[in-house]
Amino acid sequence: MSSRRKPQGTIERDRAENARVKAPEPRLQPSDFGLSNEASRPVQSALIRAFVESFLELAAIIENARALANQSAVPTHEAEVLRVLEDANRLAENVKELSGWVYPPRIPMAFTEAVGKADALNQAGLEPDRVEQLFRILRKRPVGAPAKRRQSFIGAFEFMLESKKHSQGQATRKFCSCGKQTHDPQCEHNLKAGVRGLKEILRKYAPELVNRYDSLHPDRAKKVNG
Ligand SMILES: [Zn+2]
Repeated sequence: MSSRRKPQGTIERDRAENARVKAPEPRLQPSDFGLSNEASRPVQSALIRAFVESFLELAAIIENARALANQSAVPTHEAEVLRVLEDANRLAENVKELSGWVYPPRIPMAFTEAVGKADALNQAGLEPDRVEQLFRILRKRPVGAPAKRRQSFIGAFEFMLESKKHSQGQATRKFCSCGKQTHDPQCEHNLKAGVRGLKEILRKYAPELVNRYDSLHPDRAKKVNG
């Protein structure tokens, strides 16, 4: 360590070095988030990868903020704080957005299973009020419909990515999650809208997949409208 007086610029640089905290080792894997990454599922894999990366980046920024807060020797500037906050905010939004696509729909717990859990909690000494509250959460209908539809959009997109012969109609019959015996034009319309939404997300996190999809299935309507 040198006792030499450092010029101002060096101090600034040192601070930047100190604030840049390395990502935690060993790196977290999708399985650490309860997600399985299947090589045969390019879209699902890309979304899971983006989710884990965004999460780790967010964790690193939080570490950064902690380091910044612990640097009492040099005052922290407002601009620096705002930059950290903006980064954290952006990444938190990404994590939230992606979590809606990577996690499968939650299945409501069967009644007997929920009762068993509630009993165990009761015996563990949890207050009856809290047990009742948890019991209700366990039994609650999941807000799973959108998540379920999202999984069907991912499946349809991946199916169409396999071949230009895989049409939207085929994808609808294979992946529509409406539950009806036969699918109608509304089903195809819904799937089309869902795939459009998925493409928007992918453009942000895995644009190469959208390019591949568009080259296989050029949007004729788009050309007509310019
Ligand atoms: Zn349908």
